[in-house]
Amino acid sequence: MKKDIHPDYKEVEVHCACGNTFKTGSTKKELRVEICSDCHPFFTGKQKTIEKGGRVEKFNKKFGM
Ligand SMILES: [Zn+2]
Repeated sequence: MKKDIHPDYKEVEVHCACGNTFKTGSTKKELRVEICSDCHPFFTGKQKTIEKGGRVEKFNKKFGM
């Protein structure tokens, strides 16, 4: 009987750049990510495009758009 056909897929801790850690399944021992569900704009609802709104408005006025 053959065994260990599947890779060693287990639960690992993921470290995010924001300091958040969470668990996920991976074949790696440890994971590091730049962004996670805790700090990603899509999940937090904070859209960075809104912050840039003022700048775009000035740009549009300057060029008469
Ligand atoms: Zn994060």
